[in-house]
Amino acid sequence: MPIPKDDRDRPCAVARLTSRQLAWRSIGIKSLTKDELVKQEQQVTLNTEIGIALLGGVLGWILWTAVIMPFTSLQNTLLGHLLIPFVFSIVISTLIWFITLTWVRQRKFSKIAGIHLKHGHCAGCGYELRDLPTENDGCVVCPECNAAWNADRIGAEHA
Ligand SMILES: [Zn+2]
Repeated sequence: MPIPKDDRDRPCAVARLTSRQLAWRSIGIKSLTKDELVKQEQQVTLNTEIGIALLGGVLGWILWTAVIMPFTSLQNTLLGHLLIPFVFSIVISTLIWFITLTWVRQRKFSKIAGIHLKHGHCAGCGYELRDLPTENDGCVVCPECNAAWNADRIGAEHA
């Protein structure tokens, strides 16, 4: 797995999402998303997230049907064979999505970083970078987390 790096090739973090952005992310329907930054992130990680959601759904279904249901009195009922596994699939799928989200975003860091920078935010911590001085190597250094970003990548698009 690639380690996220800034434009001086030093390891950095991936900017966290606010709880509002995380909520849009968990709904996962790009056309509904109001936050432009989240919308663009969703585009980048869509395929991975669909894969994870499907896998989580199947795992949830198997977990209920093969592991848990035999120990309940719900065998041979519609509730046990259809409704609960359906809900279970969604819950497990969402849980796995949430646990793997950081990994998914790290994996696509170069694109995710580009999106955050375009919106004027540090890709390592989300700090506002517009109007900060550019150093000799053309980088703007984030005062919050010390990550350095090429000034040309910052703020091309207004959030
Ligand atoms: Zn930063």
